[in-house]
Amino acid sequence: MKIDLTGRVALVTGGGRGIGRAIAIALAGAGATVVINYRGNSAAAEETVAAITTAGGSAQAIQADVSQAADVERLFKTTLDAHGRLDVLVNNAGITRDTLLLRMKEDDFDQVINTNLRGVFLCTKAAFRPMSKQRGGRIINISSVIGLIGNAGQANYAAAKAGIIGFTKSTAREMAPRNITVNAIAPGFIDTEMTSVLGDATRKAILENIPLGRLGQPEEVAALACFLASDAAAYMTGQTFAIDGGMVMS
Ligand code: NAD
Repeated sequence: MKIDLTGRVALVTGGGRGIGRAIAIALAGAGATVVINYRGNSAAAEETVAAITTAGGSAQAIQADVSQAADVERLFKTTLDAHGRLDVLVNNAGITRDTLLLRMKEDDFDQVINTNLRGVFLCTKAAFRPMSKQRGGRIINISSVIGLIGNAGQANYAAAKAGIIGFTKSTAREMAPRNITVNAIAPGFIDTEMTSVLGDATRKAILENIPLGRLGQPEEVAALACFLASDAAAYMTGQTFAIDGGMVMS
């Protein structure tokens, strides 16, 4: 099956590296014009833009902190002014501040909720109007298997990622009459800078719980995001798709 997103405009938050970068490259490879949002690392975002344009695609990088309403407003205004439409939003930006609950500071909790959940709220709200006007759109939220099963040391992250799943279901119901689908992807452990900080013992313990016996690659998550962004996924909404080497089977 060939996925064709020619003429579509996609925005990927936190698209400068890791899973977001792979999704941006995959969407552009399918023909979409891609806006790569980044918070601080302009070099990584510009490098992703260069990778896309060198391959013959179209991309632009825009700085914005997704947890800040004014930044999100500017991000969407700049996107719409430049490209005139928005077809796909991938809410990918995310952070971790891992520690056991007893040691977790309010700031550890607030920062993770603000980026990982509030950011999804702000961006989804901003996408609703242009997608409604177009009578169609795709919103893809990057949750995590940790939002499904929890993890010691990640109460803040699990709360945000579980929150995304509830948010996905509610907004899918609200947006369905406008032909906008909203789905979540729940990756397991994917080989990115986020997981590169794991120690050898933790990594070994994780691998023992993955039936396929390896971490996932960002490109494997990107393939699912690309499918969800395509016409082939038109009848799927409000769902959460795990992509985790078999870690969580429901
Ligand atoms: P990463 O740290 O490599 O990338 C995250 C990106 O988000 C970075 O580019 C970062 O700059 C950006 N970002 C962070 N805060 C931001 C903000 N306030 N505004 C804009 N951008 C911001 O991590 P990754 O592994 O590529 O993770 C991408 C997404 O996938 C995250 O939501 C993460 O929680 C989720 N996820 C990752 C894994 C994994 O194993 N790597 C597993 C499940 C879910």
